Amino acid sequence: MLLTRLLYTSQATRALELTAVRELNDLAQAKNRADGITGLLGYNDPFFVQCLEGPRSVVSRTMERIYRDPRHSAITLIEFAEVKERVFGDWGMKLVLPGDMAPGEFRRVCELYGGVPFSPSRMTVGNALRFLLELAPGPVRVLG
Ligand code: FAD
Repeated sequence: MLLTRLLYTSQATRALELTAVRELNDLAQAKNRADGITGLLGYNDPFFVQCLEGPRSVVSRTMERIYRDPRHSAITLIEFAEVKERVFGDWGMKLVLPGDMAPGEFRRVCELYGGVPFSPSRMTVGNALRFLLELAPGPVRVLG
């Protein structure tokens, strides 16, 4: 099996209630679990940043559906690469919202990797992954 990681950013086409983002993520998580996909989805209105990990063909099919989704646009692919192992190994799709983080924490991570004001479409591949790893609550595999 060819294991891959895909990173992209996009913008919500209209303001989304956080409950709508949570619902979106719950459905994504259920589909991803069934498909063997893991990853993390960050949302800071209006930006999404997502990492999908899994077999190349399955990640491609999932991304095809995500591209067609009218809830977001301006999808910018940051990385689609072969990897040796997953870093978000236990999460069908972990959702991270700035409001769920400690006060000031989101700004700190943005200053380190995402810019202030937050500008994910300008992130380098390395910074996009480090950004998501910093957002991730709890232990994830540290990259060598
Ligand atoms: P169906 O459920 O049959 O829906 C048909 C169409 O309606 C699709 O184009 C769908 O995108 C759209 N749609 C579905 N629900 C809504 C809604 N509430 N409002 C407006 N349009 C809607 N899916 C995954 O499987 N894994 C992921 O990791 C994942 N991440 C996502 C991240 C983001 C930022 C977004 C916006 C969506 C994500 N999705 C993810 C959802 C994905 O885009 C599809 O909606 C989902 O996979 C179902 O696909 P389907 O072809 O079965 O569509």
